[in-house]
Amino acid sequence: MVMNPLQNVVPSEPPTGNRRSALRRMGACALLLGTRQLAFGASIVAVRVWPAADYTRITIESDQPLAQQHFMADNPNRLVIDIDGLELSPALRDLLGKVRADDPFIAGVRAGQNQPRVVRLVIDLKQPTAPQLFTLAPVAAYRYRLVFDLYPTHEHDPLLALIRDREAAEALAARTVQDALGEFIGKVDKPVAVPGAAPPAVPSSPPMAKASAPAPWPPVAAAPFPAPPQQSPAPLPPAVQGKIDRLIVVAIDPGHGGEDPGASGPSGLREKDVVLAVALQLRDRLNGLPNMRAMLTRDADFFVPLHERVRKARRVQADLFVSIHADAFITPQARGASVFALSQGGASSSAARWMANRENSADSVGGINVNAKDAAVISTLLDMSTTAQIRDSLRLGGEVLGQIGKVGKLHKGSVEQAGFAVLKAPDIPSILVESAFISNPEEEARLRDPEYQAQLVHALAVGIQRYFAKNPPLARSRQL
Ligand SMILES: [Zn+2]
Repeated sequence: MVMNPLQNVVPSEPPTGNRRSALRRMGACALLLGTRQLAFGASIVAVRVWPAADYTRITIESDQPLAQQHFMADNPNRLVIDIDGLELSPALRDLLGKVRADDPFIAGVRAGQNQPRVVRLVIDLKQPTAPQLFTLAPVAAYRYRLVFDLYPTHEHDPLLALIRDREAAEALAARTVQDALGEFIGKVDKPVAVPGAAPPAVPSSPPMAKASAPAPWPPVAAAPFPAPPQQSPAPLPPAVQGKIDRLIVVAIDPGHGGEDPGASGPSGLREKDVVLAVALQLRDRLNGLPNMRAMLTRDADFFVPLHERVRKARRVQADLFVSIHADAFITPQARGASVFALSQGGASSSAARWMANRENSADSVGGINVNAKDAAVISTLLDMSTTAQIRDSLRLGGEVLGQIGKVGKLHKGSVEQAGFAVLKAPDIPSILVESAFISNPEEEARLRDPEYQAQLVHALAVGIQRYFAKNPPLARSRQL
């Protein structure tokens, strides 16, 4: 990490001519907002850096809108930001200390008074990045925000590992089944390593099982989970192959993150932290099952826009999407867990509508860079929701609600429905679990308690398993 103490040491950035061409070359833009309100003496309220593998976000929060110009420079790679109407202050210098040495993109930040009333920030980059800049008007507890999202020029793909992992495991599963089938029909074919390969010839209509026979799922009521049935020497019905030749992928979505803390409890527990803790445990729990893989829409403290969460799940062809949250309400008495599915029409209750509005506001709090492309994606998703998805989501929600009811109070005894943006994957059964009311002091204490977190994780896992036991996943029509 580069941490130069700066006393006018920010070097002159490219001479004017070069700088113009740099501006053109990099497509940098100047942003001037609310000139009417611009006044010298703007104060920086806070500077935050959110490092993540996907992107690193730098947020500069101020009491007035800031006018800035920025450009990229190379040798070494750096992003230069000139902020007008600003004096170098201790708060701004704080930025220097907020860059972690392990930030994937930022090597260091320097700041200096470039001209009177112009502060220059130089962000030294570890790799070429494509910064996205946008501003956010005051919302919730935040004032004016200037946001730089640093994306890698060569996109890092956090899902690649999962996809590879899944392909390898599916290939293994396919091979195991092929071997078993080979024994069954009295000839051992060469193992077929290609997932989804055509099954070998099998005598038709053995009196084994109906085509709809469920996959051999373990019993679900006991804890800890029983080991799955071993590959048995007993004959396998051909119909089974379509059920077990692939892994089930569960997308776990810890709500909020980064700039968006979600709700807070009376003693300060933040929703984004507790739901991440629960999600990480649930991921490990599901990954401990031989036929499941879990992926997280975020695995650290950074913000992910709502439609991006859905996109991530669809990219890995997730079989389920489970969004985890912790409620808040204006009165501390509200208590109990709720499970929500999508509604195409109106919300099932005014409380459900209120909650959906609250959760859907995450993008404006967390800071989404809404451009035309994003808007198109969002509206497409909105139009594609299907009644089949909602039906399956209600089944999944019912199983999960039943299990959560065993470890805690329920806010309502049935799955509720409303227009949650995060539940709009048209082809993935999706639920949103409000695990408890973080605004209720007792429930906040429970959410903080590792033992209750473990119970909650167990309930979610069993609910998911019960859903699959009753609704075996279909063979995939295509491979990733
Ligand atoms: Zn939430």
